[in-house]
Amino acid sequence: MSQNPFSLEGKCALVTGANTGLGQGMAVALAEAGADLALVGRSQPDDTVRKIEALGRKAHVITADLGSADHVTEIVADAKSALGSVDILVNNAGIIKRNDSIDFTPEEWDSVMNVNLRTLFFLSQAVARDMIAGQRGGKIINIASMLSFQGGIRVPSYTASKSGVAGLTKILANEWAKHGINVNAIAPGYFATNNTAALQADETRNREILGRIPSGRWGDPSDLGGAVVFLSSRASDYVQGITLPVDGGWLAR
Ligand code: NAP
Repeated sequence: MSQNPFSLEGKCALVTGANTGLGQGMAVALAEAGADLALVGRSQPDDTVRKIEALGRKAHVITADLGSADHVTEIVADAKSALGSVDILVNNAGIIKRNDSIDFTPEEWDSVMNVNLRTLFFLSQAVARDMIAGQRGGKIINIASMLSFQGGIRVPSYTASKSGVAGLTKILANEWAKHGINVNAIAPGYFATNNTAALQADETRNREILGRIPSGRWGDPSDLGGAVVFLSSRASDYVQGITLPVDGGWLAR
């Protein structure tokens, strides 16, 4: 075993939604720390595969629509047959729908809850069952949000889902810590990705958001690298159930 407590050499990480944005940034950070990657999503993650392979690590692509949790067992089996094991799960895939709560539709509610919360739970369950059967523990990292702490506006299903992610992170940590599984979450602040394109394009909201961030800039996906490597490594073996903000100080204001 490496002396470096942050090393992920010999580990395999499964990251959802890694073709772009925060998922890509975290997948590359995990590869830099030594992990091989299974990339799960509906769009082909060619750019991410290139970046991981350039680091001398493996990238195995699993195509799946995470709007349904029907295929979680097959996803875990596919990752294991390609890479040998799943030691780390990063539940990153997520969507957002913006509309006044008074007009919000059942479709806008269900589509967000399915990807952000339902599939996150059942994929975590499938991975944890495998980790428990193999008696080797592991790391599960959920991607939460500032709206795990705050209410937000015009995003009711997103706020419900991300508040749910913080709660699930705690209950799963409570139940699975005894199996050597660490379950934690990262709450990104405002990062420049497709998810926030509408906010970045709105001059007033953009100015308001930047005005509240002590670091004075939008986050870059690479800013999540330290947090995800920490929570994936043995350096965090005694950390359980937290939702760690990586937000340039947003919540401190
Ligand atoms: P993004 O660029 O829109 O990426 C979202 C990822 O999720 C994409 O890979 C997307 O795949 C995937 N995805 C969405 N629906 C899917 C489905 N049904 N099946 C499979 N994959 C699906 O957004 P991002 O900002 O990187 O967001 C990543 C995570 O961070 C999300 O959970 C988001 O809520 C969270 N987050 C983001 C911010 C921020 O400021 N950007 C802040 C807090 C939390 P496709 O490309 O195929 O759609």
